[in-house]
Amino acid sequence: MAENLNGVLHELGFRYDPNDLYQQTINAVLHAAELLELPHHLQLILAQPKNEIMVHFPVRMDDNTYRLFKGYRVQHNNILGPYKGGMRYHQTVNLDDIKSLSVLMTMKCSLMRLPLGGAKGGVQVDPRRHSSDELMRLTRRFTTALGTNIGPNHDIPAPDMGTNAQTMAWMADTYMNFAEPNARTTGQAVVTGKPPEFGGCLGRDKATGQGLVYVLDEILPELGLSLKGLTMSLIGYGNVGSWTARLLAERGAILRAVMDHTGAIREDAGINASALATYVEKTGGVAGYPQATPIGIDDCYSTPVDLFIPAALEQMVDENRARMINCKVLAEGANAPTTPAAERILLERGVAVLPAILCNAGGVTVSYFEWKQNRQAETWDAETVDAQLKKHVFAAAQRVKLAAHRFECDMRTAAYVAALENVGRVYRLRGIFP
Ligand code: GLU
Repeated sequence: MAENLNGVLHELGFRYDPNDLYQQTINAVLHAAELLELPHHLQLILAQPKNEIMVHFPVRMDDNTYRLFKGYRVQHNNILGPYKGGMRYHQTVNLDDIKSLSVLMTMKCSLMRLPLGGAKGGVQVDPRRHSSDELMRLTRRFTTALGTNIGPNHDIPAPDMGTNAQTMAWMADTYMNFAEPNARTTGQAVVTGKPPEFGGCLGRDKATGQGLVYVLDEILPELGLSLKGLTMSLIGYGNVGSWTARLLAERGAILRAVMDHTGAIREDAGINASALATYVEKTGGVAGYPQATPIGIDDCYSTPVDLFIPAALEQMVDENRARMINCKVLAEGANAPTTPAAERILLERGVAVLPAILCNAGGVTVSYFEWKQNRQAETWDAETVDAQLKKHVFAAAQRVKLAAHRFECDMRTAAYVAALENVGRVYRLRGIFP
């Protein structure tokens, strides 16, 4: 992987910063593009998003004061179809991170061969500090501020960190209230991840975790491992972390250690993943869970396990933590949790690093199913959703394995190669206008 500023980024006027998430992400993508000999002009196009939308909007708080919020929607690429990607509510949301995550969405949708492009958005807000009413007003104002920048044929948001099915219901309802008469009743396809009662897809909640389980089904046997008796630790116990833990536990894996923003816990005999999910739902975090021992953050990273799953924020696994982690496989549940320097250390230490665009693509894949059902006025049963998801994930895992073999490269580069090949083909066919 490039040690310094990639030539394309230099040409675009970037100043080298090894800690910048956007540069890290694009460097890795461009490294794959070079292996693939993707034409220079396509590398330039992909190195910047098409649109970066920033909005400011006021929201009335419950005590009748007003606060001004900053929201983003970055639309990276739509050569494959409408822009697609989550909306994040978190106090650290900033333009560079949202840009990076939008690139990953383009790569993810392409790797999964979905007819969708890549986008990401969010609001700089700590949702834990706001009432449901405040979050509703914020979501409705944010959706209104975005206006026609989103739409069922143009850009389709979904849940991400800090947002959920309720947030999506508010977004869809707001959009439908402003839509032209024809779209007032069918406009719910503007977002995915809605509640099942309001056009949501069965299984969307667990989809990212389910996809990760299917990836492991495909990759673990080659590494001489199986889910039965596999020991694991997790960083983050939100939607992705808790579903992954529960689904893996159902398949016989043993959860040894978990860490989130409230603290870290360990129990070598195994933590009950469902009981912990119920506890976190009630208390807001893993700290104080009575059936495990509280440990320090470093102890959580260094707990010996077969499988380590970062399922929280970006860049959490840095060089220091890469040296502490004691696992055979690291599967990225979160987007971009491993820095390039940390990845080099892990690979040198013989750890198999399974990249985010493969591991967590289950979420957007089931989002695609939801969008498809909304547009065709259909409702799939849970078995159909699972079977279709499995098919998509298996095919993507095959593409990654094939690319790793063909280019003798690591799995992340291979996943980007498999994604870029598809994007490159479509650009060649469509050409650059005019
Ligand atoms: N936020 C999820 C992701 O990062 C899902 C996006 C979607 O469903 O559009 O992949």
